Amino acid sequence: MMGTIDLDRSDPNFLKELAGQPGGERVQACFTCRSCVAGCPISAVNRGFSPAKIIRMALYGLREDVLKSDFVWLCSTCYTCQERCPQGVSITEFMTLLKNMAIREGHAPAGVRAQLKRVTGDGRIYPIDDFDNKKRTKAGLPVLPTSCEDIKKLFQ
Ligand code: SF4
Ligand code: SF4
Repeated sequence: MMGTIDLDRSDPNFLKELAGQPGGERVQACFTCRSCVAGCPISAVNRGFSPAKIIRMALYGLREDVLKSDFVWLCSTCYTCQERCPQGVSITEFMTLLKNMAIREGHAPAGVRAQLKRVTGDGRIYPIDDFDNKKRTKAGLPVLPTSCEDIKKLFQ
């Protein structure tokens, strides 16, 4: 994920931008103890994933590397790291902040963008069509609407 750090790519305003948003307030307090990594279930199965490393990259101002990378999307939002951080860094919320920024700037992975389109368009992550409803009726289950208006309203 991160080899040699090319500081020519560093954006000096990135940290200020992060610190002014929910989840980024205490990120500068990180002293790289790696307690977050020790408890992270994703790091346990994927050695390339490290919340401490993501924070360090953000502190170095590596804006593009952080927002264009797929790794923040691996976070399962379990909050273990956040509960363990001795410095009170809101790590899980920081991951959510990065995901939101990546979406706003068009860097989210194709799968996430497709899900977002579906949820905002139909109010559902998985499409429901006549075929599904025929199967449901056969199984004695009620017919479901193909779109969910209440969820669509939430996104408006
Ligand atoms: S637990 Fe907190 S202080 Fe330690 S590396 Fe992770 S974010 Fe930094
Ligand atoms: S919230 Fe994300 S980064 Fe933190 S421990 Fe869970 S999976 Fe790892």
